[in-house]
Amino acid sequence: MSGSEKDSALLQLITQTLETGLQTQTEPFPETEVLFGEILTQLRHLDPDDLKSKLVIGGFINHPYGPDKQRCLECMYFLVHRKWCDLPELSVPVDAEWWCRLWRI
Ligand code: SF4
Repeated sequence: MSGSEKDSALLQLITQTLETGLQTQTEPFPETEVLFGEILTQLRHLDPDDLKSKLVIGGFINHPYGPDKQRCLECMYFLVHRKWCDLPELSVPVDAEWWCRLWRI
């Protein structure tokens, strides 16, 4: 399987997982560097294959979030041409319309 085929298979898997209604930790949003760093630390301690925990701790949702309708599309970690989250602790394919609580601009 090529890299892009793997990305698209993983994107499909994440899409399906979120569609099952997986309850993820969208709150609390990390308002400070310290709180942001604490979530990254939790993510670093996960088994690299533990996709579900990554989605839960990251607080992933499959639609824009909050009154400002925040999305991956406007996040500094989103690689638009690859449809990819470039935050090293996440490193997963994402849809432009999704969101997670590591969102930053
Ligand atoms: S950090 Fe979160 S909001 Fe930003 S691109 Fe990655 S998954 Fe999307």
